[in-house]
Amino acid sequence: MKCPCNPTRLYIECCKKAHQNIDNALTAEALMRSRYSAFVMADIEYLQKIHHASTRPSKREKKEIFQWTKSVDWVRLEILNTTKNTVEFTAYFTENGKLSQIHEISFFCKENGHWAYQKPL
Ligand SMILES: [Zn+2]
Repeated sequence: MKCPCNPTRLYIECCKKAHQNIDNALTAEALMRSRYSAFVMADIEYLQKIHHASTRPSKREKKEIFQWTKSVDWVRLEILNTTKNTVEFTAYFTENGKLSQIHEISFFCKENGHWAYQKPL
């Protein structure tokens, strides 16, 4: 199976490593890629786990995110720029047959020794 974050790589050699053990995401970009792949796979538990505790979605929001990501078809992820703590990306998806995109500069920081998604800048 190809990795959702990058069709030139295999899932087992890419985001699966982080999905199995968060410590395997060594950079903010690796964590961002594993976050996108988790959206594609509707792995809501992983998304919650890598969310910084200070901004982690509530139980109700978690349910809404899960239902939303199940309702769209993810197309691809484009990483535009990265720094130590930020990743700028565009994620493409179709919703009700219409192509849409999310463009964001995400801020990541370390929490309990691993990378965590904190917020959009
Ligand atoms: Zn990947």
